[in-house]
Amino acid sequence: MAFSPQITYNNLMHTLQLRSGSIDARRALLEVPNEEILAWLEARGQAPLRARQMRRWLLSGRATSFEQMSDLPKQLREELAASFRPLGSDIARHLISCDGTHKLLLRLHDNQVIECVLLQEADRRTVCISTQVGCGMGCVFCASGIGGLVRNLTTGEILEQLIHARNLLPAEERLTHIVVMGMGEPLANLDALLEALAVATSPQGLGIGARHITISTVGLPAKIRRLADLKKQYHLAVSLHAPNEELRSRIVPTTDKTGLSAILEAADYFYATTGRQVTYEYVLLRDINDQPAHAAELAKLLRGRQAHINLIPFNDVEGLPYRRLTQQALTDFVAILRGAGLSVKVRKRKGADIDAACGQLRRAALAEPTLSPGVR
Ligand code: SAH
Repeated sequence: MAFSPQITYNNLMHTLQLRSGSIDARRALLEVPNEEILAWLEARGQAPLRARQMRRWLLSGRATSFEQMSDLPKQLREELAASFRPLGSDIARHLISCDGTHKLLLRLHDNQVIECVLLQEADRRTVCISTQVGCGMGCVFCASGIGGLVRNLTTGEILEQLIHARNLLPAEERLTHIVVMGMGEPLANLDALLEALAVATSPQGLGIGARHITISTVGLPAKIRRLADLKKQYHLAVSLHAPNEELRSRIVPTTDKTGLSAILEAADYFYATTGRQVTYEYVLLRDINDQPAHAAELAKLLRGRQAHINLIPFNDVEGLPYRRLTQQALTDFVAILRGAGLSVKVRKRKGADIDAACGQLRRAALAEPTLSPGVR
């Protein structure tokens, strides 16, 4: 994620929760196909509606144990607890920023760790979710890609991030927005993501409006087209980061395979098919893609497209040689784009004091013996 430090460590309020992890063979409820749950219930003489009750407890009832599912018979709750886990992931670490941003490091059943972030702004409650452990795209400035791709997340693991984040909110509040901008490339795990989003948007699920969900991609043309053809109202953000093929290949290595024009054509197709304006994200790296000439070239590239540009000043990643651009360079860059009639926003920094940028908390955890098993 592209949120970064701004608040000094003196202001930092953070809580730390660490639990030692051991592998639990019981499967998480959301990982078990419905037919299997129904068969399991039937074998115990239980009505099929129990399956719906259990799901409702997790999705709307905020239960984190079977014990809390008070309208299920006690014996059933005990049998459930012996066979399944209500949630497969647990909170290995919980950081709270002074701006109200929460960052969760979740430990999965196989001891892998992923991040998700809850952002609170006016009446918005946005959760930023991951779709993979690590990432295989290799964008040169991004912390998530440093160790490569470990594995895709399952639908249940994607949903559990939403559940954990939602459970942090007071009872009268609910999640309003999702940004799929955490670790991983969402379109490389599209099936699992779509299934999770179907639950997130369902009134029986989390009831989040599809128009309030943004999927950010490095730009996989075939997958963008597939997403467009589903005619959902999801918002698409394409990580552009450079105004021409040559520079983009240096920053985003997948450009060599996909080509810049194929990405733009797929994004145009997305707009034509769904009527949803595409956002182009552009991480600004000092002296690399932040010059006035880059802004002018970017304006030329996007002119005539129903596009919105989201500029993201680079968040420092330890060990990487890139730097944030200067305030003057940012002001100039924005002015050139706006002068060309483009719609531009600069991404606000959130949760800065808690390493809330893409993959950074997970990286920091690598060094810790309590969290290192399973982390490459
Ligand atoms: N794989 C998806 C999601 C990545 S995270 C994609 O490429 O879009 C969402 C955004 O944050 C992307 O635009 C990504 O390039 C950007 N990002 C990653 N690391 C960053 C960093 N250190 N500073 C600023 N933006 C970063």
